[in-house]
Amino acid sequence: MTGSSWSKEKVVIVGGAVVGSFVAYFLQEMGFRGQIQIVERDPTYRFSSTALSAASIPTQFGCRVNVRMSLFGAEFFRNIKDCFGPDADIGFHENGYLILGAATDAEVRTVSLAMQRGEGAEILALDPDQLLARFPWLNVDGIGLGTFGVRNEGWFDAWSLLSLIRSRVRSGGGEYISAEVQSFLLSSGRVEGVQLSNGQTLGSDCCVTAAGALSGRLMRNLGIALPVSPRKRTVFAVKAPLSDCAFPMLFDTTGAWIRPGGAGFICGVAPPADSDPGAEGDYEPQHELFEETVWPALAHRIPALEQLRLERSWAGHYEINALDHNGVIGPHDEIENLIFATGFSGHGVMHAPAAGRGVAELILRGRYEMLDLSELGYGRIRAGAPLHEPVVY
Ligand SMILES: Cc1cc2nc3c(=O)[nH]c(=O)nc-3n(C[C@H](O)[C@H](O)[C@H](O)COP(=O)(O)OP(=O)(O)OC[C@H]3O[C@@H](n4cnc5c(N)ncnc54)[C@H](O)[C@@H]3O)c2cc1C
Repeated sequence: MTGSSWSKEKVVIVGGAVVGSFVAYFLQEMGFRGQIQIVERDPTYRFSSTALSAASIPTQFGCRVNVRMSLFGAEFFRNIKDCFGPDADIGFHENGYLILGAATDAEVRTVSLAMQRGEGAEILALDPDQLLARFPWLNVDGIGLGTFGVRNEGWFDAWSLLSLIRSRVRSGGGEYISAEVQSFLLSSGRVEGVQLSNGQTLGSDCCVTAAGALSGRLMRNLGIALPVSPRKRTVFAVKAPLSDCAFPMLFDTTGAWIRPGGAGFICGVAPPADSDPGAEGDYEPQHELFEETVWPALAHRIPALEQLRLERSWAGHYEINALDHNGVIGPHDEIENLIFATGFSGHGVMHAPAAGRGVAELILRGRYEMLDLSELGYGRIRAGAPLHEPVVY
């Protein structure tokens, strides 16, 4: 990465949701006074993953870099008023993640736990009796171990976060342009600008791809292989006879999850891997998942949920990186002023602050300073050398 030798007058960011906006935010925070243009095809954000997300944050990941990115995000969310003033509110509920595991998983989980704690995550390991003492509404049948983050984990409001960051970027002189980037202008192995759907051409010294689930498609126009594509995830909003005040984000052994949200709870489950096709343009909720999987699993784990009432559902897209379920951050290996910030595979809202900071450091300083994100670089995509994240929610 030789970013420090670039001219850095004009940065174009493709995609103006949470990741793209955090890149712009940190460029400004770090003193960049050049032009920042953020191109967003859908200014309502109706179909952006950010707006449709469950906006939760665990520190319990298998890859060290993800634990670090979550800790960075949690710190940012906790201190939001310090940066944005006393009225700033993203509804950060630090209620923890409770991840339940069968006895057979306990050994693997304990190894991950040691790594997570070593990084500063504050996670308790609870046996069934301890789980019942803390969460008396739980059915602990078949559970060997539960891990629970007492700090740095929970959920927040992604829309409020996006609004806050966008308005700060705008007031710092960043320009959001409503258009679609259709192609990149390449010359001598560099991106010289982008061509927009409205006929405009934007010149750039550096171009950041933060186009979420459509990033892979966008890169195909350039002949660049980026295995990032949309996969549908459905969220169900329910009313249930449970108190939501100390309720955590709970992950069952079946993969079903539930947390407080809105006037009740939200819940969901990933579809089976063999029926999880590309979903471009498809936002129809997968209703059958509720009756067939989510409700039975959750009612078994939390008997009070036999009484729940389904209120509504929606579907959005995970931007799945098929190589290893991890983000792709950093420059393309041949086009050094084309920088990726995408492919977060369902952890992009929580990791947007860390990704934004990292990309801003690369652009302005030519190296990572606060967090080393180099293992998430494009080189592993080229080499087909995955950095597998085993904890995929
Ligand atoms: C149901 C669901 C639950 C989730 N739960 C969580 C969670 O609990 N925690 C978490 O951290 N993450 C979660 N995620 C994932 C998270 O939402 C994403 O990782 C994150 O929003 C990615 O942000 P982004 O800015 O990269 O992408 P997006 O929010 O999708 O934004 C990309 C933007 O780029 C724009 N765009 C695309 N192509 C172009 C183009 N050619 N020109 C101009 N603009 C373009 C799009 O319109 C879009 O607004 C969830 C996602 C879903 C769908």
